[in-house]
Amino acid sequence: MTQAVVIGGGIAGLLSAAALTTRLDRVIIVEKDQVPNGPEHRPGTPQSHHVHGLLARGVQEIDALLPHFTTDLVSHGAPVIDFAQDVALLTPFGWAPRFPSGINSYGASRLMVESVIRRRVLAHPKVALHARHTVEALHGTPRSISSVSARNLDSSRLLDLRADLVVDATGRASASDRWLGELGCPPVSRTVIDSRTAYVSRQYRIPVRGTPDWRACILQPAAPHRPYGATLVPIEQRRWILTLIGVDWHQPPRDPAEFLASARSLATPVIADAITAAEPLTDPVITRTTSNIRRHLERAPGQPGNLVRTGDAACAFNPVYAQGMSMAAASAVLLRDHLGTHALDGRFARPYHRRLAALHDWAWTTAATADARWPHTHGPRPGPPQRLALAYADRVMAAAVGSPRIQRAVLEVYHLRRPPHALLSPPVLVRTALLTTRKPNRS
Ligand SMILES: Cc1cc2nc3c(=O)[nH]c(=O)nc-3n(C[C@H](O)[C@H](O)[C@H](O)COP(=O)(O)OP(=O)(O)OC[C@H]3O[C@@H](n4cnc5c(N)ncnc54)[C@H](O)[C@@H]3O)c2cc1C
Repeated sequence: MTQAVVIGGGIAGLLSAAALTTRLDRVIIVEKDQVPNGPEHRPGTPQSHHVHGLLARGVQEIDALLPHFTTDLVSHGAPVIDFAQDVALLTPFGWAPRFPSGINSYGASRLMVESVIRRRVLAHPKVALHARHTVEALHGTPRSISSVSARNLDSSRLLDLRADLVVDATGRASASDRWLGELGCPPVSRTVIDSRTAYVSRQYRIPVRGTPDWRACILQPAAPHRPYGATLVPIEQRRWILTLIGVDWHQPPRDPAEFLASARSLATPVIADAITAAEPLTDPVITRTTSNIRRHLERAPGQPGNLVRTGDAACAFNPVYAQGMSMAAASAVLLRDHLGTHALDGRFARPYHRRLAALHDWAWTTAATADARWPHTHGPRPGPPQRLALAYADRVMAAAVGSPRIQRAVLEVYHLRRPPHALLSPPVLVRTALLTTRKPNRS
């Protein structure tokens, strides 16, 4: 009987488990938290207090693994959001045009997204969950893991779980390098790009009267002169979640009165106007866990052939670009496909990580290039090709303000449905050139 152990029961772990059921006989998820039945916060995923935009690519990938996922989400009260029609989007160059695009997202909290996925995955007869168990060690040789040790956090007893394949889905703080170091494996190199972004988030009840003509509102920061932004989205149970964003060491306030004042001092008071009449449901919550971290697994020597890393444990993104869940979902679909074409032997992980790196490239290029705009961003500075890409991206975004066709192309890339170089297609190039003969005028 073949058995996989998935470490971490967050979105990446659950979706990986769904992928593994296509090939393995048994899939064991080990999760250190108590796992709730519904959409409830838990200590292992503190990001659930903040806005979580689900990109169109993520919708498509999760639906591919768990058919009717979106129907489930809607039945739990998540509104459908056409990202061009329903979103008031203030870019550094002005308001984006609004038009029916069919590029759909869903207004759901991260809690709801995870809860809907979890219910589906745990119902699978091949899947078992060990909640309140924390993985402490991997056993085997530097070439192959044979088992995983997990400690029961209530009884302190150690459980030894035999594994033909191990998936690390423990998030940004993954301890795989430490566990593998104990087996004699060299650490994996990584790139960190940190634009020192802070999030402060709060939920509101959506008022019955006087709601704006948009469903969601995004006010993007604009480097280098406008380091504050905000995202307000509707989520299930007629709530709004509002995240105020500060970049480059600027931190939005946590005090409730100052939070409202800060919303009012943004580039436009539209969000402040909307929430003034709305009942606050939670206190403002802060996080600074927003750096881009890429582990270079594709070129790491001496790693076990049956350990794959996924989700934030492989590559974590600055959340302002809303890519993490979608990339976790795409990585799980990739795992399913890889299982269909590769034997479960000592050569499984390396080609998977190579394909994963290619998958991450789109999202990484967008996040790393955009973060490089800020003067205090920590990490490798952009070279001439990146600076050229930034200058061209500015031109395209400026042109998009006056052109639904260009804005559609921008949104296709933002939603990870097309690669960044799709913005170099002849129609986008020509329209951009025609519409931005003057230097872009930042608002
Ligand atoms: C502030 C913020 C906002 C975000 N906004 C967005 C957004 O708008 N859109 C988007 O797509 N993504 C967003 N993300 C990213 C998104 O949350 C993640 O990319 C996504 O949830 C996938 O995470 P993961 O499952 O890889 O890791 P995590 O969510 O971190 O889950 C890891 C799991 O592993 C468990 N675990 C850890 N160590 C152990 C251990 N030793 N043993 C057992 N279990 C363990 C943890 O308890 C946890 O359940 C945001 C992230 C942050 C921080």
